[in-house]
Amino acid sequence: MLRSTLLAASRSGAIRGLVERTPLTRPVVKRFISGDDVDAAIATTGEVLADGRLVTLDHLGEDTRDAAQATGTVEAYLELLGRLQKAGYADRAEVSVKLSAVGQFLPVDGEKIALENARRICSAAGVVGTTVTLDMEDHTTTDSTLGILRELRVDFPWVGAVLQAYLKRTEQDCRDLAHAGSRVRLCKGAYQEPASVAFQDKAEVDLSYVRCLKVLMAGKGYPMVASHDPRLIAIAADLASERSKDSYEFQMLYGIRPEEQRRLAADGNRMRVYLPYGDEWYGYFMRRLAERPANVAFFLRAMLTK
Ligand code: FAD
Repeated sequence: MLRSTLLAASRSGAIRGLVERTPLTRPVVKRFISGDDVDAAIATTGEVLADGRLVTLDHLGEDTRDAAQATGTVEAYLELLGRLQKAGYADRAEVSVKLSAVGQFLPVDGEKIALENARRICSAAGVVGTTVTLDMEDHTTTDSTLGILRELRVDFPWVGAVLQAYLKRTEQDCRDLAHAGSRVRLCKGAYQEPASVAFQDKAEVDLSYVRCLKVLMAGKGYPMVASHDPRLIAIAADLASERSKDSYEFQMLYGIRPEEQRRLAADGNRMRVYLPYGDEWYGYFMRRLAERPANVAFFLRAMLTK
């Protein structure tokens, strides 16, 4: 109930204004977001890399209906990639891109514009020697995002995809993408989805995650295990026992279970932190609150004790 209320709020302009205007939100937001600009992102990337973790950076933004804003997002990624190279981080830090931030929802030629914009980001990533992963948004975008992935992979075979275990279609998508050279991030899924397409029960989502993990780990691709769930991490480690440590990786979000992130890295695992930055933090922040009721209490407590 709380989850669906927060997820509905994550797409409400009125509530967005309210939350963003409250200065007391800021300290709580900081737990999940590295900062407003590229300087903050580079500084935090350096801190995370220093203890052996890897990074994927997200320039925050989504659901863009404005072509100029989509172009601005591409330029922000190009600047970021240049800065990663300059700092000497491009071998350990890649970028994650939401296609809805680079034009997928534009009313005219949205998919075509998103493809061209993503292509510019991929070209720049290739030049600096890093990779790009396409984030996955709600289920209405899955086919379009996987279609754009296929097009991009013709020229940039290292582009990664995200699949969401809560979707009933995902086990088949895992089979389709478990081929050599294919980088697939498996997560549970963060959006509000109808029962017609998605498992609603947490236990069912977890079972689906394990089925999908089995497919990916038995395949020839590069699985990226994106979860903070201790049981799923243990199962992933078990399923990967026949694989070399550099043939898969764990991924977690910035600010969530940092000690476990460091433990996995210290044990010789590839462990990547998803690091968001920028001032368009609202949707991302609300999804983090929705994932864990305790975060809402933490948020309210911080507001009330100021
Ligand atoms: P849960 O069962 O939600 O959590 C397990 C445990 O992790 C909790 O008990 C708690 O201890 C901790 N935890 C989880 N979430 C939080 C939180 N917000 N605050 C504090 N503690 C928490 N989703 C998409 O739909 N599309 C994407 O492209 C996408 N990319 C992602 C990339 C990465 C690297 C990661 C880690 C997640 C991504 N997600 C994405 C989000 C994902 O779908 C889940 O919503 C999120 O990871 C929570 O699921 P969980 O597997 O951690 O399990």
